[in-house]
Amino acid sequence: MNKLLPLELLGWGTSDVESLPSYMLRSAYWHGVSGSMFIRHVLDISEHKFKSNDTWRLGKDGLITLARVNLLSRVTRQTLRDSTGHEMSCEPLDFLERHVRDIGCEIGGFRWCPECFAEMERIGAPLYFKQIWHMRAVIRCPVHRVCLLDRCDKCGSAQESLSARLLVGSCVNCSQPLSKRKHELVPADIAPSWDCAAHDILEIFERASRPGMVGKGMCNLSDFVRAVEEFLKRENKKPQVCPEVHKFVEKYARNWKTHCRLISLRRLAYLMNLTLFQVLACAHHVNPMLLTTVNLNHLPEHLELRKKTFRHHEEIFQKIVKYLEEQENPPTLKQVAEYANVSTGYLSHRFHNLAKKIVENHRDHEERRRLKDRQNAQSAAVGFFTVVRESGREASRKEAYRVLREETGLPKWVLKNAIQTVYAAIHFE
Ligand SMILES: [Zn+2]
Ligand SMILES: [Zn+2]
Repeated sequence: MNKLLPLELLGWGTSDVESLPSYMLRSAYWHGVSGSMFIRHVLDISEHKFKSNDTWRLGKDGLITLARVNLLSRVTRQTLRDSTGHEMSCEPLDFLERHVRDIGCEIGGFRWCPECFAEMERIGAPLYFKQIWHMRAVIRCPVHRVCLLDRCDKCGSAQESLSARLLVGSCVNCSQPLSKRKHELVPADIAPSWDCAAHDILEIFERASRPGMVGKGMCNLSDFVRAVEEFLKRENKKPQVCPEVHKFVEKYARNWKTHCRLISLRRLAYLMNLTLFQVLACAHHVNPMLLTTVNLNHLPEHLELRKKTFRHHEEIFQKIVKYLEEQENPPTLKQVAEYANVSTGYLSHRFHNLAKKIVENHRDHEERRRLKDRQNAQSAAVGFFTVVRESGREASRKEAYRVLREETGLPKWVLKNAIQTVYAAIHFE
């Protein structure tokens, strides 16, 4: 049996449970190897045989992969448990994964709360990144209510390296402790206690943090949503049930698979005036009283529905090509986007090659124009000083600028530079 140093997954069984990428970095450090080497070793000794196309990507992508629930993280946790003798599960993530089809999109790279790190330092505990800090919905530390940081406060680097040269808690670039802040906190940095957009996610981390804390619900989630829909149908004639919400729930019930993303379920819970935890645990009855206060128009900002716009891409493409042909000078990407009534992001994403070409053409054109301006300015300056000299007098650079600016209309600094060059050449002789 392969053995690894018996490091524990810190905060296991609590809402402060350590994230898997954090554990891998800590353990790699104590094994004296890099994070990627350590991960490779763990996968080598695992019982799962990864296929050659299950390539392990390093850097930020690798961290994000491990912070999610997927085959790689499952195999890693299992292998670590077998090799260290410690529990390695993350119950809140497993709870979410049981009900939600896609929680991956909500999870990003390393972020941290400097105050939490400072507290860990003060009691001499090892520093670690908490799983909850990976949840994109969580913007502030639930304990200190300050915004999480994702860049070192001293040098501004993101903590994405897997080198494991330093212990978790020091900047991978400048070694400064991540618990240090450049500026002291002021009261405005701390959010009021009632202002927490991610309270539904926090509740899940608190209530589902120990194994066995959450029993199986009375039914599964899709049945539950269907039951709500039935209920709304029956109640629809009563004025307190908002018809929009009814429609919304109906859409969910009909097309369950596409709507089972975390953000959609958070929205659904909000509209039904239940907490996300209540919806996911399915262990409750719908109270008609509760359904009276919600309305689609009153969704908080973080749950608002994003309007999908349908575009006829081919038409837009043709329109742009025609526009480009008509232009005398190559326009900027922004001008093209404005003309076609789309965003530059849309152009780069949808017509990648065309957008690249537009940018290049404009840049080349600008460069040629600047070169031509410089040449014109220089020959104008030479002409001016020659004529003045032939007439037997001297002219100042100021006078040259005044005359040439009027004659040529060239940009100020192009002219000034050309005049300076020619003037210096003449007076050097
Ligand atoms: Zn904190
Ligand atoms: Zn730094």
